[in-house]
Amino acid sequence: MYRALYRKWRPKSFDDVISQPHITTTLKNQIKNGKTAHAYLFTGSRGTGKTTCARIFAKAVNCLSPKDGEPCLECEICRDAENGALSDIIEMDAASNNGVDDIRDLRENALYTPERCRYKVYIIDEVHMLSNQAFNALLKTLEEPPEFVKFILATTEIAKVPATILSRCQRYDFNRIRTEDIRDRLLHIAQSEGVGLDGDAAQMIASIADGGMRDALSILDQCIAFSENITRDVVFDAAGIAGRDYLFDVLEAVFERDAKRALVTVEGIYSKSKDLQRFCAELLEQMRNLMLIKAAPSEKELVRCLPDERERLAAISNKTSLEEIISKLDTLKESFERLSYSPSKRIELETALIKLCSGQVRQAQPSISEEPPLNRNNVKNPPKNEIPAPKEEQVDFSKLRAEDFKPLREWADVLEEFSKTSPAVSGTLQNSQAYVNGNVMLINAQNEFFLKLFKIKENAFALGEAVKAVTGKTYVIRARAPQTAKDESKEAGKLLERAKNGEIPVETN
Ligand SMILES: [Zn+2]
Repeated sequence: MYRALYRKWRPKSFDDVISQPHITTTLKNQIKNGKTAHAYLFTGSRGTGKTTCARIFAKAVNCLSPKDGEPCLECEICRDAENGALSDIIEMDAASNNGVDDIRDLRENALYTPERCRYKVYIIDEVHMLSNQAFNALLKTLEEPPEFVKFILATTEIAKVPATILSRCQRYDFNRIRTEDIRDRLLHIAQSEGVGLDGDAAQMIASIADGGMRDALSILDQCIAFSENITRDVVFDAAGIAGRDYLFDVLEAVFERDAKRALVTVEGIYSKSKDLQRFCAELLEQMRNLMLIKAAPSEKELVRCLPDERERLAAISNKTSLEEIISKLDTLKESFERLSYSPSKRIELETALIKLCSGQVRQAQPSISEEPPLNRNNVKNPPKNEIPAPKEEQVDFSKLRAEDFKPLREWADVLEEFSKTSPAVSGTLQNSQAYVNGNVMLINAQNEFFLKLFKIKENAFALGEAVKAVTGKTYVIRARAPQTAKDESKEAGKLLERAKNGEIPVETN
C-alpha cells in the first residue's frame, strides 16, 4: 500500500525535526533531567511539526531506555507508540470532538492510572476549536492533573485559546520552516526514494509550501504521480501553479480599478468551489509582496512567490504608489478578518473588491521619520524616482503642546507585540518611551540604529500594526534617536525635548 510521504518521513526523534532547535533542545533537556511540565501548548502554522514533536515527546517520556532525552525507537513502548497501539498515548482532534462531553470523558479517563506507561499523554490537536464549556472543563483538569498525566495542546490559532488555559501551560512557538531547510529535506527524501528531483524544482516546491513541511511533501507526492524525474515544469503542472493565474488577474484588476474583471474572476473561483477565505489569504500574501517590492526593491528574499509571478507583481508595482498599496492592503485585511465569521463570504469578498476598485485611498498606516514634514510642499511633490511617503492626516506640529502629551501606558505591550514580528528591530527600542496626544505619537528612542532600521518602510509598517493591535488606534508616529537629539529646530524634536525634561506630566496611576 502506498503511504503518503509526509507520513512515511515524519521525524521519529527530536534530532530529525528541522528548523525548531529552540524547542527540541529544551524538551530534550527537560526529559533528560526529569523536569517535564504537566501541560504544554504548541503553537505555530500548519506543517511546522507541532504534532510530530508531541508524539516524540510522548514516546521519550515513556521510553524504557531513553538516550539523551530522545526515545530509543527500539523498545516495546517506542515500537507500539509508533504503530499507534499504545492506549496510554491518546490523540484527540478538537476540530471534531469539541464539546463539553468529549472533555468530560477525557477527564474521567485521565483519572485511571496508565496501563503500561509511566505517563498518560493526551495530545489535543487544534485545541482552539473547543467550545467555551469544553475549555472550562479542560481547565479544571489542567488545574489539578493526576501526576501521571501530561497534556500537549496544539493550535494554529493561539489568539483563540483563553488566557486561563495559556497560563497553565508551557508555551512553545513553532517557526515556519525555512525554505532552504525544506528544500534540503526534499532533496534528501527524493534521493532516498529513488526519485529524480532537481534543485530548481525543490526550491520551487519549498517556496510554494511557505514554511509547511506537510504541504511540501504533499506537493512532492503529486509530482511523483506525474513523473519520476521532477523538474520545474513538472512542479508547475502537478501543483497546479499555472492555475494561480486567477490570483494575479484579480490583483491586476484591483489596481486597474476594473471592478467588472475582478468580480467575474471571483465568480469563476466561486463556481469552482474554491475556498474564498483561502483565496483572500492568498490575495493578502500577494498584496504584501507588492508592498515589499515597492518599498524595499533590493530585499528580494522577503518576497515569497515564484519567479514568473514576481514579474507580474513588478509590473503592477510600477504603475502604483506605496500609499495606494498600503491602503488597499488595509482594506483587504479588514475584510479578511470579517470573512471568518461572515455568513456570506461571497458577498463580503465582493464588497471588498468593489471597495478596492473604487480607488478611495484611506488614511494610510503611520510612517516613521525622524522629522515632521514641516514643508508640506515636499510631501505633495516628492522628488521624481523616489517613493512618496504615505500621506498622513495633516498634522500641524507647531500647534501641538508638549504638556498635552501623555506617556503611552501600553508601550511595553506594544513592544512585546512588535517583537513577535520584528524581534531585531524591536530590540533597538529598548528603554524607549512613547508619548501620545490625539492621533500623534512621539517615540523617544535610546538606540542610534533605531532610525536606520525604521527607514525601511516594512519596519515602520510593522510597528504601526503592533501599535494598532494593542491600542486599537492608528497614530501618526514621529520618533528620534540620540544623534538627532540636538536638533531642536524641528517641532517634534522640541516636544520630545520638553517631554524628556519632565514637562510632560507623568501619570502615576
Ligand atoms: Zn524506547
